[in-house]
Amino acid sequence: MIYFDNAATTKPNFDAIKKAEKFNNEMFYNPSALYRGGLANSKEIKQAKENILACIGANGYEVIFTSCGTESDNLATFCCVKRGVYVTDMGEHSAIYQAFLTLKNKGETVKFISLNKDGSVNCEEIYEYVSNNRVDFISIMHVNNETGAINDVNNIARTIKSINPKIIFHVDGVQAFGKIPFNISDDIDLYSISAHKINGLKGVGALIKKKKLNLVPYIIGGGQENGYRSGTENIFGIKVFEYVAQVHYSNIQTNFNKVKRLKERVISGIDKDIFTVISGENCSPYILSISASGLKGEVIMHSLEECGIYVGNGSACSSKHKYSRVIEACGYKPDVLDGVIRISFSVENTIEETEKLIESLNAIGKRLKEIILK
Ligand code: PLP
Repeated sequence: MIYFDNAATTKPNFDAIKKAEKFNNEMFYNPSALYRGGLANSKEIKQAKENILACIGANGYEVIFTSCGTESDNLATFCCVKRGVYVTDMGEHSAIYQAFLTLKNKGETVKFISLNKDGSVNCEEIYEYVSNNRVDFISIMHVNNETGAINDVNNIARTIKSINPKIIFHVDGVQAFGKIPFNISDDIDLYSISAHKINGLKGVGALIKKKKLNLVPYIIGGGQENGYRSGTENIFGIKVFEYVAQVHYSNIQTNFNKVKRLKERVISGIDKDIFTVISGENCSPYILSISASGLKGEVIMHSLEECGIYVGNGSACSSKHKYSRVIEACGYKPDVLDGVIRISFSVENTIEETEKLIESLNAIGKRLKEIILK
């Protein structure tokens, strides 16, 4: 199978798994145990935290390991501010979007900022809102998981803090970590990441938090993770996460350039009479959103599957949401929304796979258009 759905998840790195295997074998000890094996594992977790922080130059921050990116997002949203005014945007992943709707249902003041056409956040609207309201918490994603739009979160955080330094600023970095060259700025208080998006394992995430920021945990128990997230640590998954993060960061620019070439090849190779490119210029090379206006993205996705290619489709197909709410918030009309597919790359994808994708997309698009016109 040719796999172009790497924003959904990635293939685990088996070298990293091998390297961490001992934590499932002879070094299986509970990191909280006070004998030698436990203490050694506790040290291993500490080392993993230091190495992950170093990836984004995070000095003065600490890592709270969680079970996934969703948990990290929820922890940031629900646990830093007790009550108040919360701001996010229309493009967020459900892990933030639904968390904000929950706050709204509880009676908190919640503001969803609009998107630009490429899925990036309308910064002027945030600054205006922050200037005119006493905002407590803001969450903005680094890379949009549907369009790939990159938000300049360091700059946004700096501008917001210059208006009101008391605001707590969270970034969902799940689609950026390990992919976009980035050093976290001091104006960002919290940054969420997830292992399985960078060839780690499902079930491991982290919230990178400014040390001086307080957080009231919602998983209470044995006080692991400095009391911020109880529960025995998944040391195996954590060590795999550490190793894959280091692998990604040691090649981050080379990988970025390689994937960019693949993405640009798809953009130049697809038939423009059939496909519209939704992703903009300032976009992660790992994500490409396109639409075959008038066709159904889901049908294209399944037709590609028959050619041995997996891609994502852009619609949140539920009875409530016929289309992707994110692409809809970018301002597209139903005919475009219906035809969205998401192609997401990894550094393992080859140019041969990319050519096969282009050829299949054009052939499928042409065939489906002909059927419609008949
Ligand atoms: N945030 C973004 C931007 C994502 O793309 C995802 C997953 O697709 C998540 C959060 C949730 O991460 P996880 O699958 O680890 O819960």
